[in-house]
Amino acid sequence: MITNAFTVDFEDWYQGIELPYNQWNKYERRIEKGLFPLLDALEKQNVKGTFFTLGWVAKEYPELIKRLAAAGHELASHGYTHEKVYNLSPQQFRKEIRDTKHIIEDLTSQEVTAFRAPFFSITNKSLWALPILAEEGYTIDCSISPIKTWRYGITTCPDEIFRIREANIIEFPVSTFSYLRKRWAIGGAYFRLFPYSFTGNGLNKRIKKGKYTMFYIHPWEYDPSHPKIKLERKAQFTHYTRLNKTLPATEKMLHNFKFGTLKEVIKNYEKKHVINSIGIDILQG
Ligand SMILES: [Zn+2]
Repeated sequence: MITNAFTVDFEDWYQGIELPYNQWNKYERRIEKGLFPLLDALEKQNVKGTFFTLGWVAKEYPELIKRLAAAGHELASHGYTHEKVYNLSPQQFRKEIRDTKHIIEDLTSQEVTAFRAPFFSITNKSLWALPILAEEGYTIDCSISPIKTWRYGITTCPDEIFRIREANIIEFPVSTFSYLRKRWAIGGAYFRLFPYSFTGNGLNKRIKKGKYTMFYIHPWEYDPSHPKIKLERKAQFTHYTRLNKTLPATEKMLHNFKFGTLKEVIKNYEKKHVINSIGIDILQG
């Protein structure tokens, strides 16, 4: 039974580094350069994943969206402009998730039911977004990290699949593990900055405890030669370090562990567990 979800934030390199939406057209488009090696690696192990897609990307690359759907991957929403939820008004947020859902659904025959906020930006400043997601037809959210960083995180968020008590939403938060008295996430920069065995050991620890895992990654992490622009120090380090290691590490991980779509993993969880309800007040901290 598959208990690990393989998820991708489907966006280009200039969207992953906080460049404003109205400037995206100035930058070299390279989304396929990272996507294709990743798709090959998934296909080699016959793994289907979940692609949290920006509405802007779906509009600009309709053929890629159709191709992902035809290959059996799950399409989900990553908002439209990659703006952090806590920087949007509730009205702007509603429009982003509504437009993105419609664009993707028009291109595929799939219903879009899952959402991940850019930079995991559902924090205690933006919990108002959860009921809006439910009102707009979403049933799954993957936008909360139990680890606090300079951009995101809610430390009172449980590290398990749970239901938001006030809204019809299942939350699959960022998956973590403890190492050297610190908590680390399974995916993204954590996957890339350290050797493969770091995440491999983390996954094994979770499996031993019967925990379900959500791995996350971006196509630009498979494109080591994408343009380098000067960023703030922390972002510079987490964005550009060891990009040439992402593909071999992913191949190894897909070989060693079983992965599937988010929907499939949540369905498996529901077969074995009663999903706990957590109130928004707990997440408020
Ligand atoms: Zn993103």
